[in-house]
Amino acid sequence: MQGSAQDRARTGSASATDTVPDDLPALLAAVERQLLLNREPLRFEQAARLIEVGPEHTPALVALAHRVRLDYCGPDVELESLLNAKSGGCSEDCAFCSQSARYHSPIPTYAFLDVPQVTEAARRSEADGATHFCIVVAVRGPTPRLMSEVLEAVASIQRATRIKVSCSLGLLTPEQARQLVDAGVEMYNHNLEACRSFFPTICTTHSFDERFRTCQVAKEVGMELCSGGILGMGETPRQRVELAYELRELDPDEIPINFLNPRPNTPLGDRPLLAPLEALRGLAVFRLVFPDKLLRYAGGREVVLRDLQAMGLLAGANGLIVGNYLTTVGRPAADDLRMLADLEMPIKRAAE
Ligand code: SF4
Repeated sequence: MQGSAQDRARTGSASATDTVPDDLPALLAAVERQLLLNREPLRFEQAARLIEVGPEHTPALVALAHRVRLDYCGPDVELESLLNAKSGGCSEDCAFCSQSARYHSPIPTYAFLDVPQVTEAARRSEADGATHFCIVVAVRGPTPRLMSEVLEAVASIQRATRIKVSCSLGLLTPEQARQLVDAGVEMYNHNLEACRSFFPTICTTHSFDERFRTCQVAKEVGMELCSGGILGMGETPRQRVELAYELRELDPDEIPINFLNPRPNTPLGDRPLLAPLEALRGLAVFRLVFPDKLLRYAGGREVVLRDLQAMGLLAGANGLIVGNYLTTVGRPAADDLRMLADLEMPIKRAAE
């Protein structure tokens, strides 16, 4: 994405001289009219102002994000489960990731699981209420052998369940993307992770443009795109907004928002956790930028949000990853189901 496209992403539909009122209640009222009445998108400078509101205005921001989510998406929450089908040993140097071979993090390392194990995990996820199952592998991009293992697993899951299958296999060529779509993979997950201006700080072995291009390739062959990022890696709040508007250029169907859960021995292992209200402001602003998309509350929510975890679902999130994450243990699915029942939020069922 070169200069002019980047500028467009940053300003949304606004002109370069966008002005935003200083008065926060007036800004929130204007944004509410804009999104709910006029169906006009949030502009970059509005998002940049809202993501920096203080604790006194955070409840109003969260409430607005929730109204927008209900109005555009309804009350349902979609559940997804992930399977880390190949763990560790990755050649890349993403600073947040315990699966990089460079950091010697204490995680289990294994090659691609066998097909019955992957199929059984999908079956269990379906029984827990998930409608969506993502096969994740820790690689820069898939080798021909890995592709054929994944395709075999996808076929087996399709025979055994009705669950929607997505894959996250790193950087893809157009040919590999076509193989996945031909096999019936409906969605590709490839997070941008961080905005263009911050990305070189967290990864040097591949570029933001390579990630961006893989997202485009997935869409070009007809897969839905799931792409989001990680908040709390040392980026500024404004850079979170940059990420949101760069993602908007890609028009993903689903946006997972992760919060950094620092992993031992990684370069970000000693980073302090994001403050819970800061995490909620990030989530709320992503909802306002993406009023009609599936915003998935993903890794790190337990450790970062702590007692405020349920608030994320009142701040715009309408999807959850249930069960374990890639290298960290989530809480039991039953706890998330109880949280949704307490919030009186129905679980989205698979389409008949
Ligand atoms: S985030 Fe993905 S590409 Fe980066 S080190 Fe981890 S597994 Fe490898």
